[in-house]
Amino acid sequence: VPVAITSEARDGVRPDYILMVLRDLTEERRLERLRADFVANASHELRTPLASVLGFIETIQGPARNDPAARDRFLDIMLTQARRMSRLIDDLLSLSRVELNEHVRPTEIVDLVSLIAQLRDTLVQGAADQGVTIEIAAAEAALRVRGDADELFRLFENLVQNAVKYGGAGGRVVVSLDAEGRDGRPTEAVVTVRDFGPGIPAEHLPRLTERFYRVDVASSRDKGGTGLGLALVKHIVNRHRGKLSIASTPGEGAAFTVRLELASDETAAAATPPDGA
Ligand code: ADP
Repeated sequence: VPVAITSEARDGVRPDYILMVLRDLTEERRLERLRADFVANASHELRTPLASVLGFIETIQGPARNDPAARDRFLDIMLTQARRMSRLIDDLLSLSRVELNEHVRPTEIVDLVSLIAQLRDTLVQGAADQGVTIEIAAAEAALRVRGDADELFRLFENLVQNAVKYGGAGGRVVVSLDAEGRDGRPTEAVVTVRDFGPGIPAEHLPRLTERFYRVDVASSRDKGGTGLGLALVKHIVNRHRGKLSIASTPGEGAAFTVRLELASDETAAAATPPDGA
């Protein structure tokens, strides 16, 4: 970038100093491009089901007017597409809400062991319908972290649902909960959601948490995915100042690990009601 430096005399006085401010715009430009891509992707994702709904309405009003069987079939498709748009909008709103709050660290005390048990209760039947069992391996009776209970629920719900959806062929999903630290003092809660399905080829791993990034677009759509689940997961982990890592051996499954700082004993005790409710 050519930079011209001049020191013109102003009102007949030559300045003693020149202040030069150089700003690297690379990161700003990258963010601008990401934002523009995001709007384009989101519009495209909404436009596809909307076009399908509009097309079927016209068909029902026109050629299929007197064909009740065809009308019922088209209404089913329209319902599926409308639900997809609704899921997409819900996910977009959740994502923007978490992003807006990302600088505010949540303060509630949440026990991850009971949160995961509760999550299993809500997902176990749906998973069983797909031939998948959800197992919990908790090394601790409780793992208390500072967080937002709804967001943490959403985070692990996304990971377990993905494991069932994409790794269901392995027949089981295991959520393990552990505490790790140094010098025998636990400082971190480590939660891993593991499946034994086809896994994820290594070249996709770095981009997996990007919005709308999918390994297989058709399979994601078939399974009702919006492509926003892991982006939401990443932002929730960021908001909790935690770490997300993804590991996979293709053919053997995938493991998503979340690390969150444990709330120290004193602060956790102060925030937990005496009856433990
Ligand atoms: P989607 O709504 O498509 O599920 P996500 O952001 O949750 O979007 O996931 C992005 C992509 O990552 C999915 O489309 C899928 O290709 C891949 N993926 C996520 N979890 C797994 C898993 N456990 N096993 C294999 N692939 C996965």
